[in-house]
Amino acid sequence: MSGGRAWLKQALASLAQEAARSADTHLLRLDLPAFPGIRFYLKDEAAHPTGSLKHRLARSLYLYALCNGRLHEGQGAIDASSGSTAISEAWFARLLGLRFVAVMPDCTAPAKVRLIRALGAEATLVPAGVDTSAVAREHAAANGLCYLDQFGLAERATDWRGNNNIAESILEQMAREDHPEPAWVVCGAGTGGTSATLGRYLRYRRLDTRVCVAEPDGGAFAVGWRTRDADAKATRGTLVEGIGRPRAEPGFLYDVVDAVEEVDDADSVAACWWLEEALGRRYGGSSGTNFIACLRLATAMRERGERGAIVSLLCDRGERYAESLFNHDWLLRRGIDIDAASRRLGQALAAA
Ligand SMILES: *Cc1c(COP(=O)(O)O)cnc(C)c1O
Repeated sequence: MSGGRAWLKQALASLAQEAARSADTHLLRLDLPAFPGIRFYLKDEAAHPTGSLKHRLARSLYLYALCNGRLHEGQGAIDASSGSTAISEAWFARLLGLRFVAVMPDCTAPAKVRLIRALGAEATLVPAGVDTSAVAREHAAANGLCYLDQFGLAERATDWRGNNNIAESILEQMAREDHPEPAWVVCGAGTGGTSATLGRYLRYRRLDTRVCVAEPDGGAFAVGWRTRDADAKATRGTLVEGIGRPRAEPGFLYDVVDAVEEVDDADSVAACWWLEEALGRRYGGSSGTNFIACLRLATAMRERGERGAIVSLLCDRGERYAESLFNHDWLLRRGIDIDAASRRLGQALAAA
C-alpha cells in the first residue's frame, strides 16, 4: 500500500469518526396562534459544531474530493465562500491537518473572518462584485491547492438518496407528528445544494411535499426560476449572507423547486429579531428570510382552509451578525427601518 493510500484511509477514517461523534440537529416545533391547524417546524442547523448547515456540505465536499482522488497528503484546499462554508471547511481542514484558504467578498461579516483565521485558515478578501469562484479556481491552479468548489459540486457531493442528508433527517424527525408528510419545506438557495437534495429526496420517497425557495428580492434564483435560466443575474444585492446569489450557480436545479418567495431584506431582518424573542437564540439573516416565506405559505393555506405542516431551516448562528443585522445603527445606515418592519411582522403574526 502506497503512503498516499495510507494517508487517504486515515483522512476518511477521521471524517467517519467526526460524523459518529456528531448528533443530529433538533427539529423545533413552533405554534403560532394566528395559524390554527398549521404546524411550523424549524430544523436547527446552527447546532452543528461549526454553526451552520454548511457543516453537512463541508463534510461532503472533503469526502467527495478525497474519494475522487483530488485531495492528497500535504496538499492544501481552497474555496470561494460568503463565510459559512469557509468556517466549516476551515474546521474540517484543521481536523485533517490540511492548509485551507478562503476567498470571500470584503463585505463578509467580520466575525466570520475572525472565526476562519482563529481556525488557522487564511482568508483572502476580494472587493464585492469580484467573482470569488474565479479567484479561488485560479489560485488553486497556480498553487497546487485542491479547489473544493462548493458552488460547482454542492448538488452532487451530497448523497441525495439518504445517508442522513438534511431531507432524510427532517422526514425521520417528522414521522410521529400529526402531519408526517409536510405540505411545504422552505429553504434558501446559496449553492442550491439544500433545495436540490430536498426536491430530489421528496420525489424519490414519493411524497407530495413541495419545496419553496425563500430568496431575497431580485436574487438570481428568483430571476432565473421563472424561465429556467442557467445564466440568470440578480437584479439587486442583499444584506442577507449565504443566499441571494449575484448569478445562477451550477447547483441551482430549478426543476425540483415548486415555488419561490421573494422577501425584502427589512422583513428578513425583522424575522431574525422576532426569532430571537421566540426561540431565545439568535439566528442569521437567511433564517429570517425562510420564516417570512413560511408565513406567506401559511397565510395562503389558512385562506384555503387547509391544515398541515410547514418545515423550514434555521441556517446559521446569529452571533456572527452581532455587528451587522443585530445592530440598529448598522441597519439604519443601510436604509433598513427595523421598527417599521417589526410592526409589519407583528401584524402578520397577530391572531385573526
Ligand atoms: C449556504 C447557506 C444557505 C443556502 O444553502 P445552500 O444549500 O447552499 O443553497 C442559507 N443560509 C446560509 C446562512 C448559508 O450559509
